Amino acid sequence: MRETFLPFHLPDIGEAEISSVVETLRSGWLTTGPKTKKFEEEFAKAVGAKHAVALNSCTAALHLALEATGVRAGDEVIVPAMTFAATAEVVLYLGATPVIVDVRPDTLDLDASIVERAITPKTKAIVPVDYAGQPCDIAAITALGRSRGIPVIEDAAHAFPAAAQGRPVGSIADVTCFSFYATKTITTGEGGMATTDNAVWADRMRMMSLHGISRDAWKRYTAQGSWYYEILDAGYKYNLTDVASAIGLEQLRRAEALRDARKRIVDRYDAAFADLPELRRHPRRPGTGHAWHLYVLRLDLERLRIGRDAFLDFMKERKIGCSVHFIPLHLHPLYRDRYGYRPEQLPTSTAAFRELVSLPLHTKMTDRDVEDVVSAVREGVLQNRR
Ligand SMILES: *Cc1c(COP(=O)(O)O)cnc(C)c1O
Repeated sequence: MRETFLPFHLPDIGEAEISSVVETLRSGWLTTGPKTKKFEEEFAKAVGAKHAVALNSCTAALHLALEATGVRAGDEVIVPAMTFAATAEVVLYLGATPVIVDVRPDTLDLDASIVERAITPKTKAIVPVDYAGQPCDIAAITALGRSRGIPVIEDAAHAFPAAAQGRPVGSIADVTCFSFYATKTITTGEGGMATTDNAVWADRMRMMSLHGISRDAWKRYTAQGSWYYEILDAGYKYNLTDVASAIGLEQLRRAEALRDARKRIVDRYDAAFADLPELRRHPRRPGTGHAWHLYVLRLDLERLRIGRDAFLDFMKERKIGCSVHFIPLHLHPLYRDRYGYRPEQLPTSTAAFRELVSLPLHTKMTDRDVEDVVSAVREGVLQNRR
């Protein structure tokens, strides 16, 4: 039995990140400035996009992407049920209606046929999610959106670095939104990025991220800048600080090594659970570059005497931090009460929710930590076989 609790996630912050922050603090430039510019340039290069706009969260990126692509009050935006609060709340910020749709039974994400069935004359954006770090069928969804004139905003909060059909996530959808929240694949504490090839949308997101004032407003305090600015629209305060970007630049350099380290843990989990029919591992789409953000298992409740909640209690007793991704949106009071969703309207998400368990998957885990997770999971299953 472990002595200490194994957290579900721990950020991997090295000496390079620490020195970079200290150097930034000493530089006298704390907020958006040269480090953020550099972070944007290097991130755009990493995902093969023409433009990258650094923001203080992925939520901000999703909000600005919908705003820039033209979502307005009364419009509809298609979102999957299996996602985090952010994906749908930004639709409400704009006075539009999130149309929550059920996901594929295998990969728990959207595909083009699901999206197509949900399109109405009011649909003004589609926001698919790369669940667990595995890209959804984003090329087909983007092609469908283009054929109907509907922008596709990819919620890639889990999916850096990732690829689909040989192209990096960040270069496929009309706009792609990434998260650098503390638990994500790379982190700046809080932070996000929107990437696009569309210069008009990139400029609009940049302007709206800083009070809706004229372009490159942050330069007004530099030698090249001018004191003069104009307020062009009612913007937001969504800019990323240089302190955060200093962390981001170092994390970006390590992103693939961190991903590979998570993948080694995935391989160990896969091998350790292969003989247990009570556990179904999340299916992998062939030909996609997975970011391996989450290790998701589905409990086969027919074969077990306990439910998911009791399984999580057991893991907690064994001092292993687990999580659930996600409580489907339509089951939350906000969406249930405001739009009248019933659980059986989205049967796949409703059923999957009762079976989902996410195991710890992070690069601060030791070999011993991985073994502890494996033995706790195996015991939880073997003690509760039907
Ligand atoms: C974490 C997350 C977000 C929000 O990211 P923030 O950077 O915390 O705003 C959005 N979508 C999904 C699917 C997420 O998991």
